[in-house]
Amino acid sequence: MRFIIFDLEATCWEGNQVGRNQEVIEFGAVSANQLGDSMSTFKRLVRPEQNPRLSYYCTHLTGITQGDVDTAKPFNSVVIDFMEWIDIEDEEYLLCSWGDKDIEFLQSDCRYNGIETEWLHRYIDLKAQYHSIRGLQKKRGLKRVLTFEQIEFEGSHHRAFDDAANLFSLFTKYRDMWMY
Ligand code: AMP
Ligand code: MG
Repeated sequence: MRFIIFDLEATCWEGNQVGRNQEVIEFGAVSANQLGDSMSTFKRLVRPEQNPRLSYYCTHLTGITQGDVDTAKPFNSVVIDFMEWIDIEDEEYLLCSWGDKDIEFLQSDCRYNGIETEWLHRYIDLKAQYHSIRGLQKKRGLKRVLTFEQIEFEGSHHRAFDDAANLFSLFTKYRDMWMY
């Protein structure tokens, strides 16, 4: 099995995001084998099309600038690269992310761009599984969990690749525990 530990950043605004169409602006992923060894990585910015101007709030949260996304390729191009990098034709892969938001972002942007979503069904939520493994009722964010696990968070939180790489550290710590 190839585990695709991934994270996305998306357009966002201050306050409640209800009714807002959040689009992916960054992909970050690490692929790992059953032993928890990293095999390759994927890191890409994306130019949003429905709301091409990033809010100040979004840039402040993520550190992703308007210039970063203006020079990036749009979702339909980057997601094809992502699907190729995963090698979705070889079904021995499993998408793994922290919470179900990331898979929802992908579903939404794939639908908007007329891209099939079947490949997103091979998916597990590491956040839900982690809370169940540790018997935690109250949901904790990734950064807090890493502190709790005494794993140092490396890089910038809310950058897709750094979030994915840190999630990969947690993934390897519990590599025999994930259910799929
Ligand atoms: P994360 O993987 O935690 O960096 O979050 C992914 C995306 O969720 C971000 O790029 C934002 O679009 C959104 N998000 C995360 N945290 C917040 C927040 N505190 N306020 C608004 N949006 C957020
Ligand atoms: Mg993130």
